[in-house]
Amino acid sequence: MAAMPKAARLSPGRRQYLHFKQQYPDALLLFRMGDFYETFDEDARTMARVLDIALTARDVGGGVKAPLAGIPHHSLEGYLGRLVKEGLKIAVCEQTSDPAASKGIVDRAVVRIVTPGTVLEPGLLEQDRNNYLVAVVTSEASAGLAYVDVTTSDFVTSEINLSELRDEIDRLNPAEVLADAGAKDALTEAESYGLALRDLDQSRLDAELAEDALKRHFGASTLEAYGCSDKPLAVVAASAVIEFLRDTQLGVVPQITSFRTLSADSFMRLDRRALRDLEVFEPVGGRTGAPTLLSAVDRTRTPMGSRLLRSWLARPLMDLAALQARQDFIQWFADNAVARGEVREALRKIPDLERLTNRTRTFSASPRDVAALARGLSQVPVIEEVLTSGATETQPSPSINLKRCDEVIALAAAAIADDPPMMVGDGNAIRQGFNDELDELRSLSGEARSHIAAIESDARESTGIKSLKVGYNKVFGYFIEVSRTNLERVPPEFERRQTLVNGERFITPALKELEAKILNARDRISEVERALFRRVCGDISAHSENIMASARAIAELDALCGLAEAAAEGGWIRPALNDTDAIRIRDGRHPVVEAALGAGRFVPNDLDLSSAGQQILIITGPNMSGKSTYIRQAAVLTLLAQTGSFIPAGSAEIGLVDRIFTRAGLSDDIAGGQSTFMVEMVETAAILNQATSRSLAILDEIGRGTSTYDGLAIARAVAEYLHNDKRLGCKTLFATHYHEMTALADALPRAANFKVAVSEDGNEVAFLHRIVPGGADRSYGVHVARLAGMPRPVVSRAWQLLDELEKGKPAEQRESGAGVQIPLFGGTPPVVEDLLALDVADMTPLDAINALYRLQEKAREGDDVSPGP
Ligand code: ATP
Repeated sequence: MAAMPKAARLSPGRRQYLHFKQQYPDALLLFRMGDFYETFDEDARTMARVLDIALTARDVGGGVKAPLAGIPHHSLEGYLGRLVKEGLKIAVCEQTSDPAASKGIVDRAVVRIVTPGTVLEPGLLEQDRNNYLVAVVTSEASAGLAYVDVTTSDFVTSEINLSELRDEIDRLNPAEVLADAGAKDALTEAESYGLALRDLDQSRLDAELAEDALKRHFGASTLEAYGCSDKPLAVVAASAVIEFLRDTQLGVVPQITSFRTLSADSFMRLDRRALRDLEVFEPVGGRTGAPTLLSAVDRTRTPMGSRLLRSWLARPLMDLAALQARQDFIQWFADNAVARGEVREALRKIPDLERLTNRTRTFSASPRDVAALARGLSQVPVIEEVLTSGATETQPSPSINLKRCDEVIALAAAAIADDPPMMVGDGNAIRQGFNDELDELRSLSGEARSHIAAIESDARESTGIKSLKVGYNKVFGYFIEVSRTNLERVPPEFERRQTLVNGERFITPALKELEAKILNARDRISEVERALFRRVCGDISAHSENIMASARAIAELDALCGLAEAAAEGGWIRPALNDTDAIRIRDGRHPVVEAALGAGRFVPNDLDLSSAGQQILIITGPNMSGKSTYIRQAAVLTLLAQTGSFIPAGSAEIGLVDRIFTRAGLSDDIAGGQSTFMVEMVETAAILNQATSRSLAILDEIGRGTSTYDGLAIARAVAEYLHNDKRLGCKTLFATHYHEMTALADALPRAANFKVAVSEDGNEVAFLHRIVPGGADRSYGVHVARLAGMPRPVVSRAWQLLDELEKGKPAEQRESGAGVQIPLFGGTPPVVEDLLALDVADMTPLDAINALYRLQEKAREGDDVSPGP
């Protein structure tokens, strides 16, 4: 802030500004002055920079100039969006008294604090995703997490391991995170990818106070019903959220009427790597518009439905009963195409009930919003009717918790005009006949207008000036305009007000009297209309619990009905879910690849995996043959099945999986600054440390990031560990083009070889994308090079070299000494044995150099080198 001159010398406006600024030191203060929101001092510099607008200066008394930057009030929403995207906290300070009526300085008040996680403006929100504000508090290795979407009142809390925080945050993709010191440490890199992090005041984080605050807020004597009585960190986080909302004065706090506690055990764990590798929400490499798992299954028709489906995919279930309930629902709609079509038609007419209700409750809805809300609700009986009439004895229709909101519909129908405006106050938002006073004011104003017309025609007649007309502008109000050529005919009772190039403007007492009536009526109409509309919003809000319950039921209906649609379109089947640790799929297809290829072009494949049986599949085959697709397909189908969805397969039995691990190599963390190989090893280590017999791991080309031998050695050691560690038994799919890996299947009883079938006709090779038992015996790399359009001479030379290599070591290699091979799966070569036998600590530097020379000679001779595996 600029250096402050003595208070006495400051202008009153400056003093008022500083008063508010002191109350909100960490916010950018938008100070309403007439038609502008002005910012001063540091805030002005920030705003000028972020919005790229002019920075000027204003005299603030005592000869001091403060930096100033302003935005027009009517463009607030657009500018707010840009400020908030920067992660800024904005305090909006409005004029609260009428400047015309105020003596001295206008009253002002901060009416809202806007932060990325608390925006309500529809233009700043994405329809198909939640806008979460998250609070995280930590204690040693645990984290309490609470998140709320103020636009839908969805409020959830949970306790997780601190090590999982980053994944949970990625899954929620929040707009803003309030973090204590521990959480900030765990999320250090988060800021680099644009997450708005804000400090939580540690001194306010007390478990008992938090519990009391939550109980008070929800009017509950215990938190048991919310499932968090034994989760103190979750309670603290939840109360931090409520407190933050209260501080931002949004007026939405009272709408947060309930919350749920999620238990991590009821969900499959999916880390951000898996979400990314499986392209659940984003295509790898950020190809915009490319299909994702979400786009392959999303047939929802409402914003609520699409938000819900998104959250289901991020959080697949482990709860058999809940999954079967979803499946029953989908089954009914998959079997009843007519009902499905009718319900989807009704859903298409339903707007964002959650957000509209919340806007109505906060009095920020427009008349058009209220009309849309009611129109949406009028589809509830239509849906109920479809469900009732579609029910049969053997297949009763699914029950959903729809609530009729007839009063709301009736109220909106009676109160809101047809084709209502976006703004309230212009007199055309409220229906004729709803309120006597408004009707009367409107007819008065209508009559006055016809009086104006009468004044015009009377004046024309009395003066004989045909071109005389009555006009209106904001500065002079109503006036009589006479052209220059007719001025001599103007009677003396006309008072001159304005001279124009071509004529003059006059007023008369009668005209001014009428004007006062008209303007009064207009002000009054605006006042009455605002009051009426506010009352209507209030009355509708009284039903908001019911509306929100219906909105949630509709979201679920939409998500499930959409999944039924996807199932019907794609010929998907209902997987049999169970509690075993086996997965068996016949004729499975990868929904995303299939969608990209077009119907009928995807080659289906089977899969048999179980902890105790075929636990590890080693899939060998050339590049581009379909290995990655096959192993991802296993993960994607399991994930889909555990959202309750049907899946693209001939048949499937799926034992619920507690976690999907992917080491799929597509998305190496180059941006994160780690080497490909390091990332690969970190992820592989995570699998080995955390997998259980209920987990599914897919490993694509592990070891690829280092030399062949290192890679092979690590790949093999990993497979052995996954196989032999009793605790693990993790179902694993290994894709590799090292055909040396096939030897593993002989050594490990629960490992099996599969390969991608290849049809060979002379030098012509075709990859059939069919996975069959057995190991690939060659790599077909040269074929792929040819398919890729390598110049013919390169391909021929490669064939020749390959031939030599396959026959044995070529002479030139011997000469160059490049032929040392360390056998991978055999014993230690003698040269290494000699090396290991040296007692380095006891050697002089000269001895060491001599020994090194001898070893090198021995290695060059090559006689001691064992053959490869
Ligand atoms: P690389 O080792 O180079 O990653 P890969 O063997 O893993 O290759 P994929 O990436 O899985 O091969 O598949 C290559 C292409 O083959 C895919 O983009 C897809 O178009 C096609 N493909 C894969 N599987 C099938 C299938 N089952 N049916 C039809 N086409 C398939």
